[in-house]
Amino acid sequence: MPAQTYLFSCLSDNYGVLLHDPESGATAAIDAPEAGPVEAALKTKGWRLTDILVTHHHADHTGGIPELKANHRCRVVAPHAEAARIPLVDETVRENDKVRVGGLEANVIETPGHTAGHISYVFPADKLAFVGDTLFSIGCGRVIEGTPEMMWQSLLKLRGLPDDTRIYCGHEYTVANVRFARTIEPANAALAAREKEVEKLVAAHAPTIPSTLGEEKAANPFLRADVPEVAESLGLAGKPAWQVFAEIRERKNRS
Ligand SMILES: [Zn+2]
Repeated sequence: MPAQTYLFSCLSDNYGVLLHDPESGATAAIDAPEAGPVEAALKTKGWRLTDILVTHHHADHTGGIPELKANHRCRVVAPHAEAARIPLVDETVRENDKVRVGGLEANVIETPGHTAGHISYVFPADKLAFVGDTLFSIGCGRVIEGTPEMMWQSLLKLRGLPDDTRIYCGHEYTVANVRFARTIEPANAALAAREKEVEKLVAAHAPTIPSTLGEEKAANPFLRADVPEVAESLGLAGKPAWQVFAEIRERKNRS
């Protein structure tokens, strides 16, 4: 049976998401920004929390762990490199490790850059990717602990997933991301279409995620740093893609 997901808001602009295996009844929270909304989501769905899969150590992704762990005795899985900065970790994982949530299986992909040990969880059978603060819809995370080159390599790893992979990210930043992306690629038709779609979703108070990787590849400038026209429009024709990426990220930081 396919995995089920349930997306909900946390804090001011974070997303929480539950991943449920209907066969075994196992349910994972991907990150735990705060306990209250996770508990409410579990109650709404009638699901029992068995696991918390942590993408990175930032407090707006881990703040709910102590309370959830106390209430559910769930397993906490976290990136090996950041385990010391994450509360109550039971299991640490690295590149290519497998994580099971009941009968569902994730591949761990190390996607450093936003933080030095950031990981993403990819469930190939269900074509789901939980990417934390590495990739956002039409955006990407700030490069805080890593380098632009490192972040670009992480984005390339995610870009290699199948186009119909649904991308769950950690924040609702899409409106601002689209506005910025239009300044980089004003003539991109896929981006214009995404802008219209996002306007509709926002007007309906609906989340703008998940998107698919295929949609992101067509419209997200941070995944398009190796498109010659993008480099050219930034005055960086012929430069390595990571330098083009760095320039786009820098402009976003200033926007
Ligand atoms: Zn973060």
